Amino acid sequence: LGMVKSFKYIIIGGGVAAGYAAREFDRQGLKPGQLAIISKEAVAPYERPALSKGYLNLNPKAAARLPGFYVCVGSGGDRLLPDWYEEKGILLILGTEIVKVNLGLKTLISAAGEIFKFQTLIIATGSTVIRLTDFKVEGADAKNIFYLRELEDADKLVETIKMKKNGKVVIVGGGYIGLEVAAAMRINNFDVTMVYPEPWCMPRLFTPTIAAFYESYYKNKGIKIIKGTVAVGFNANANGEVKGVKLKDGRVAEADIVVIGVGARPLTTLFKGQLDEDKGGIKTDGFFKTSMPGVYAVGDVATFPMKLYNESRRVEHVDHARKSAEQAVKAIKANETGKELEEYDYLPYFYSRSFELSWQFYGDNVGETVFFGDNNPLSPKPKFGSYWIKDGKIVGAFLEGGTPEENKALAKVSRLKCPVENLDQLKKEGLSFASKF
Ligand code: FAD
Repeated sequence: LGMVKSFKYIIIGGGVAAGYAAREFDRQGLKPGQLAIISKEAVAPYERPALSKGYLNLNPKAAARLPGFYVCVGSGGDRLLPDWYEEKGILLILGTEIVKVNLGLKTLISAAGEIFKFQTLIIATGSTVIRLTDFKVEGADAKNIFYLRELEDADKLVETIKMKKNGKVVIVGGGYIGLEVAAAMRINNFDVTMVYPEPWCMPRLFTPTIAAFYESYYKNKGIKIIKGTVAVGFNANANGEVKGVKLKDGRVAEADIVVIGVGARPLTTLFKGQLDEDKGGIKTDGFFKTSMPGVYAVGDVATFPMKLYNESRRVEHVDHARKSAEQAVKAIKANETGKELEEYDYLPYFYSRSFELSWQFYGDNVGETVFFGDNNPLSPKPKFGSYWIKDGKIVGAFLEGGTPEENKALAKVSRLKCPVENLDQLKKEGLSFASKF
């Protein structure tokens, strides 16, 4: 048996939530040697959303590269460079995968057999991508088929982009990863085709009207979109490199590179049978405490009570990863000092950026929708949005091309659940309705 390393606090996972938790530990007061972050990745916590945006840009002047996007730069904070952790006496144990967990004994075991002991644990393992090989899709293991979750994935993709200059790329999946990667590849001058089974992109959030704008905009940029069919297999050449995507409708889309973005699932397997689960995640309270004392779960893996909607939910977005991490650390410290802490009261917030476009969404996309604004894809500066109204109240709001103040106003009406008397009037007022509050 290897040596046992003991820490007061261990964070398992070194992604977005881990980085924001480290900053909060420091703010709350931490002694050198108390905190360790154990991560499978080889680098310190960074802002993961950069991987599908600036990171894929081949123009060296525009490309996002570390140390540029270490946390907490994505929310306007300072970049925490590896030196910062060292100065604070926070151990970054990188390139280390935990393969076994015994919460009862408070131990973690790495793939190399190292043993770590904790008093308090924060689980921040995030998500992993869903792979087509999991469904035994024919040829899905061909070379140059990529997924995008970690820096290492992005590096492999960037290498191949450089080798296949001006080639053809097929993006499988019409979610935000698919849309962002398609844009990045078009900017890199690739011939881009998107394939997804749904009738419109981002179907879980976008209304048909919102989606129609982005699809037209993408087509105007030269991106081909094939909807309503799925990839059922892949052709490869003699070197095993992907050459085409076979579609269910019989067509074949030619490809030198394929990027697959068909969803993610939370990494909870290590804790199976040791913690209560809910809705596919680790069940927590409003302080991110799990069913086991001294064990917290944050970010993508946590299913927590969403006060605003009076139900438990799991959220796979960066803003929640940051805020839940801060809440958990505050709760740990409050527990130690006997201080009071308010329960987490989260307003869902999600955004995406591609080309010159940028949208934000706040709240819940349920109920009736009211669309407003200029959604002409050829406008020099399109600006439009949608409200979601349930039981006579605004519960969600979407805005493309908004200013920070306008986005703030939308967050506010969604948070306050502002009452709406007349939907026609709301449509007429559009953005100015929100700005009144
Ligand atoms: P992660 O950031 O995924 O971190 C988990 C970490 O745990 C990883 O470092 C992983 O290697 C490590 N880990 C897992 N298992 C183990 C183990 N057994 N041992 C050791 N380490 C382990 N959200 C938005 O709101 N807007 C966006 O524009 C956006 N863009 C995105 C683009 C991409 C390409 C991706 C992949 C996600 C994007 N997201 C976006 C989602 C957002 O990044 C995640 O919700 C967020 O990163 C979750 O934070 P987390 O800390 O829970 O998990």
